[in-house]
Amino acid sequence: MSLKRQLVEAAHELDRRGLNRGSSGNCSVRISADRFLVTPSAVPSLEVTQESIVCMNLGGDVIEDSPNLQQAEPSSEWRFHRDIYRKHSGVGAIVHIHSTFATSLSCLRRDIPAFHYMVAVGGGTDIRCAPYATFGTDELSNLVLQALDGRRACLLANHGMIATGVNLSDAVRLSIEVEALAQQFLVCLSVGQPSILTSEEIRQVLAKFSNYQNPRQK
Ligand SMILES: [Zn+2]
Repeated sequence: MSLKRQLVEAAHELDRRGLNRGSSGNCSVRISADRFLVTPSAVPSLEVTQESIVCMNLGGDVIEDSPNLQQAEPSSEWRFHRDIYRKHSGVGAIVHIHSTFATSLSCLRRDIPAFHYMVAVGGGTDIRCAPYATFGTDELSNLVLQALDGRRACLLANHGMIATGVNLSDAVRLSIEVEALAQQFLVCLSVGQPSILTSEEIRQVLAKFSNYQNPRQK
């Protein structure tokens, strides 16, 4: 399946799963060391087609692959996609969603601590929440890069979530995991304070994950 087709399928799947609604959220896939495909601006996920997918380089320029067709505008949030690909050569795909539970937690501006061992799927001992900045800005992009330092996913305050992967299915899978963790953490917070694993306990999980679950570390 072509990468354009995979990107369209991923956008549709996120909508079908209820992780995205309307035209919020966006996703992208790397096609070479310095180019990526990103979903278009202001198009509902279910209406994204291969023709509306936009190709960009890491300089932030739109690459016109078919001059006869009217070129769609890239997602207004293309900057953090570009900057993540620039900084992390191992990232092959990025999913950004405004899913209900991750977004709710982001509005509380809470990191997700090691309340459950699966927090380690994010690559570290917690999943950080990046401070708030206006969508589409360099400021937000810089905050995202800091929150993703040593991590594969993060929350964005009063906004949503970003999950990265070696490919689109990896990034979509991680976004589903993080949404589930956000839901579980919110349920815990609604009745009390969950017990947090010790740094030694979560480091043991990270070591096990690096042995058999994290393809980037193989
Ligand atoms: Zn967004």
